[in-house]
Amino acid sequence: MEKVKNLVVGCGLSGIVIAERLAEEKKEKVLIIDKRKHIGGNIFDYKDRETGIMVHKYGPHVFHTNEKKVWDYLSRFTQWHPFMYKVKALIDGIEVNIPFNLDSLHKVFPKHMAEKFENKLIEKFGFNKKVPILDLKTSGDVDLQFLAQYVYEKVFLGYTLKQWGVKPENLDSSVSARVPVFISRDSRYFQDKYQAIPAEGYTQMAANMLKNPLIEVRLGNDYKDIRNKIEYEKLFYSGAIDEFFDFEFGALPYRSLDIMLKTFNKTFVQSGPQINYPENYDYTRSVEYKYYLDEISDKTVVSYEFPCSFKIGKNERYYPIPAKDNEVIYQAYKQKALTLNNVFFLGRLGDYKYYNMDQVVSRALDVFKGVADA
Ligand code: UDP
Repeated sequence: MEKVKNLVVGCGLSGIVIAERLAEEKKEKVLIIDKRKHIGGNIFDYKDRETGIMVHKYGPHVFHTNEKKVWDYLSRFTQWHPFMYKVKALIDGIEVNIPFNLDSLHKVFPKHMAEKFENKLIEKFGFNKKVPILDLKTSGDVDLQFLAQYVYEKVFLGYTLKQWGVKPENLDSSVSARVPVFISRDSRYFQDKYQAIPAEGYTQMAANMLKNPLIEVRLGNDYKDIRNKIEYEKLFYSGAIDEFFDFEFGALPYRSLDIMLKTFNKTFVQSGPQINYPENYDYTRSVEYKYYLDEISDKTVVSYEFPCSFKIGKNERYYPIPAKDNEVIYQAYKQKALTLNNVFFLGRLGDYKYYNMDQVVSRALDVFKGVADA
């Protein structure tokens, strides 16, 4: 039986943060394992061989946070390429700003209608305010109801059916609230204080975080296969919590993605880094990666995302599905997890939460603090 001080399962962002802290702050040995053959989990990126363009293997990751603590922490391991994300959606063949904002309004409606809606939105909610689509739908006024129904159908319904397989109202309202209607001319996807992409990529940032010689990384190691062969003092588990407990309370569902990459013999094919397709095609969005790091090439790489359900052994888990029934199952696992000593769950899969990257880091730092202060 192998004995380790700290075992970290999952070499994604959560596991890497906790491993780095344990090694750097507590000066403890850490074994971090991952069943995949690369570090970084779903933030893994690589330079495409043909074009040299940095591609995000598991879909677009644009870092954004308001938490200075998180920004400062990651800034120890990477230089940043400042980047304010801009997303457009193709609606009736017109590219409009997402989040749907006052500019979008004026793009899709005749002037007199757009002005009427604009005035009503500002009067009811105030300028620069964000209104989740499901709230706008119940706002009362006939004109605003019309607008809400329009945006719901044109921006959210088709996209959400493709992405999640269900309508927006059948998911936790926080999901569609991630991209609210924005009563503003601010055309950025996020409004956070810090927005950037690691200048040398996420994989390099991850490698820098794992540099401490107290950390041993073992890839291609599935926890299931080694759990009876390793003894640990503490276990930090960022894999799927249902799998940890052998699906005792049932499997927690996830969405996955089939990502198709295409290289074009053109300098650019899109007007911007990301186009969403709520109405057309079977893919949800296309991302032209050279925009991310401002890379120069006479070719370009674009990814197309085809959402699908997660099937164990067939594809990867990308998104927990925030919905009532799933939360009930998760809570059963969470209660059981609380009865274990020296086992800590974290990350999108460990906590079954639709975390953004900054929330992943923040959560891992908190877990570390809990352990360090104990
Ligand atoms: N969404 C949508 N239409 C859009 C963009 C987003 O319906 O054009 C909804 C959809 O349900 C999506 C959710 O908002 O899954 C969150 O979008 P976000 O861009 O945050 O998703 P992520 O980048 O995490 O996949």
